[in-house]
Amino acid sequence: MTTGHYWPRPGVNQDTQFFWDGLKAGQLLIQRCTGCGTLRHPPGPVCIACHGFGWDTVAASGRGTLYSFVKMHHPPLPVFEQPNPIGLVELEEGTRIVGRLVDFHPDEIRIGAPVEAVIRECAEGLFLALFRPRRV
Ligand code: ZN
Repeated sequence: MTTGHYWPRPGVNQDTQFFWDGLKAGQLLIQRCTGCGTLRHPPGPVCIACHGFGWDTVAASGRGTLYSFVKMHHPPLPVFEQPNPIGLVELEEGTRIVGRLVDFHPDEIRIGAPVEAVIRECAEGLFLALFRPRRV
């Protein structure tokens, strides 16, 4: 058994499969209600605005701003830099998403910072949307 290099894996179910498949294909897909057009993330079976069950997806640009963030110190995992910066990003399409912050100088991490998504294969078969500074 190998320890120390384990990437935590997301739970995948029939509501979220499209999201992970999209990342593998290089797209950041966001769920959209076909009844009223409301975007929702994380994905779910029912629209929070109109309670409709119908949905499709839109490919987000990946551009957004840092709405909030934390710098995780615990648990320390060898696969992550320490501290591990995690952002809550407000996408320009109008919904929010959580992702690791990469390529930031520690002093650059501030609320309101422009960011863009970069999709990387972080472990075998595990594609994630990470967020880096967007130079405008
Ligand atoms: Zn709706």
